[in-house]
Amino acid sequence: MERYYIIIVGGGPAGLTAALYCARAKLNTLVLEKKMPGGQILNTERIENCPGFDSISGLELAQRMEQHARKFGANIKLEEVKEIHSEKGAKVVKTTQGVYHAGAVILAAGGEPRWLGVPGEKELLGKGVSYCALCDGPFFAEQTIAVVGGGDAAVGEAIYLTKFAGKVYLIHRRNSLRAKKELQEELLNNPKVEVVWDSVVENIEGKHTVERIMLKNVKTSKNSPLEVSGVFIYIGFVPNSNLFNKNLELDERGYIKTDYKMSTSVEGVFAAGDIRFQLAKQITNAMSDGATAAIAAEAYLKEKGLV
Ligand code: NAP
Repeated sequence: MERYYIIIVGGGPAGLTAALYCARAKLNTLVLEKKMPGGQILNTERIENCPGFDSISGLELAQRMEQHARKFGANIKLEEVKEIHSEKGAKVVKTTQGVYHAGAVILAAGGEPRWLGVPGEKELLGKGVSYCALCDGPFFAEQTIAVVGGGDAAVGEAIYLTKFAGKVYLIHRRNSLRAKKELQEELLNNPKVEVVWDSVVENIEGKHTVERIMLKNVKTSKNSPLEVSGVFIYIGFVPNSNLFNKNLELDERGYIKTDYKMSTSVEGVFAAGDIRFQLAKQITNAMSDGATAAIAAEAYLKEKGLV
């Protein structure tokens, strides 16, 4: 069984920043990432609000963060974590491929996009239904598509999708947007965009691929079809905290509760990034969390005589 001082679950900006700090502190560190290092930024075409990079692709930033952490000695493995428990003061982390021991664990597993939960959504996933504009936008050149949601993600991605699509409908369940003002202005000034207010998607229909969505106006209860070949859903986020919630205290939305040190309700377990509630789910916030969690985890190991 491999032993580490610190195991970090998740290789997004929070996890990779934590790995960098731990590795630079000469703590034997393992990052366990189930897909590919980078997390959600892999779905972001262009990042302009990460200090030091006036414009960088999500993929390139992810690769740089991974190389940076590796350069200082962090070990990064592509394995899915299945279980974590405490055993005689140590943390035991079971993955699809092995079992690892650590003095402390940092949970930085982020989360997943929320599903609408309507008929046709699952069936037509990848056939017009998408949660990733960057991945799938280019498939909809000159086509008519819909984006669902009214937050920063929906509005930002609707603007991005106008690069490809001929027409973008933004479907929002209220008559005002949650997104920040500057994004709203950009959206509303874009001639390719039409906002459908006070409306929800009731069905996504199509024989082999998306052909239309059925909308319901929540004020009039009137149903109307909208012919689209793609539906991009951006209605929020579900944190990946389920795996660990047996003993961990979560808030009412399922995010892991932490204190200012990123300590969770379980001793020696820290949380960083989108797995805990953020006012703004930004790369910078995730990095900041990762750094704090790493420093706090190191202090914990010292205090317990584990390092
Ligand atoms: P969000 O801010 O929670 O917005 C979710 C949107 O989806 C809301 O407009 C909500 O409507 C709507 N919605 C929720 N459930 C729905 C349902 N079942 N049917 C229809 N609509 C539904 O989520 P987000 O946009 O993913 O953003 C999450 C966080 O990340 C935010 O803090 C945001 O600032 C941040 N973020 C920032 C950027 C950026 O700065 N560029 C980009 C993306 C995300 P209501 O408004 O009616 O509740």
